[in-house]
Amino acid sequence: MCGHEITMTANDTHSPKALLETMTWPEARRAALDGGRVVLLPVGAIEQHGPHLPVDVDNRIVVWLCNAAAERRPDLILSAPPIHYGFNEHNMGFPGTITVAIQHFIDYVFDVCHSFVRQGHTRIVLVNGHGSNAMPCALVVRRIVNETADGLAAAISHWNLARDLAAQIRETPIGGMAHACEYETSWYLFLDPAAVQMDLAVADVMARRTSFTWVDLMGGEGPVAFTDDWSRISNGSGVEGDPLTATAEKGRQYAEEEVTNLIRFCEEFKALPTLPRRDYTARGQDPNPYNQ
Ligand SMILES: [Zn+2]
Repeated sequence: MCGHEITMTANDTHSPKALLETMTWPEARRAALDGGRVVLLPVGAIEQHGPHLPVDVDNRIVVWLCNAAAERRPDLILSAPPIHYGFNEHNMGFPGTITVAIQHFIDYVFDVCHSFVRQGHTRIVLVNGHGSNAMPCALVVRRIVNETADGLAAAISHWNLARDLAAQIRETPIGGMAHACEYETSWYLFLDPAAVQMDLAVADVMARRTSFTWVDLMGGEGPVAFTDDWSRISNGSGVEGDPLTATAEKGRQYAEEEVTNLIRFCEEFKALPTLPRRDYTARGQDPNPYNQ
């Protein structure tokens, strides 16, 4: 409206909002000033998680985790709406699974991260909830560092924030905690016990197919990268691990540990300086000490 005066009524004494989705644009602008708050972008998947868990496990956990971290430290962290769908081709034999082609996924997540950099944020963290997203997420954050002037982006799969705790409280042996397992079921029992059908939970711990290949969320991977189509090797449950050992109390401990460590990483990541790039090539202006 012509001649309309904008009256600023914002009250800066309020503590800042934690979630981008609840902000107005002036609030989002404030959150991006001076390099901005650390953006946590939850990256999930819609994927079968056995007969006992809903298909939204990976989304549910990372959204809760990012929001909890931002709500504790809204001065430091901004939680963004999630990437709901992931790279899931290996599980398409199971109903309820949705996949995005890997190059589309990389480009799409990059575009989301790049938008935050264009709006002023210089620290982005992908908080991933789905194993097969880990590789493309690592490529996305490399692109942000390589292709933007001052954006630093990092990616973490959330279970890696709780390795030390898992070593203390896990009951399933190494190699038996991978999918819809003790760990993921414990998380869901903590978040929403009514949605977990424990009467349908089954243990399904597969033998190693070779002595060089295995996956355990908390115990790392074998030296050889190899992921087969899941419908070829699953015993039909879609589970890899033993959800019967899951408890809500373990889930509560994992949640607390991961929020604490995620905030600690954000503190350290925000404190990292963005150093100037150098060009020591024949075309560059930076002095080469070996020429002197
Ligand atoms: Zn999962």
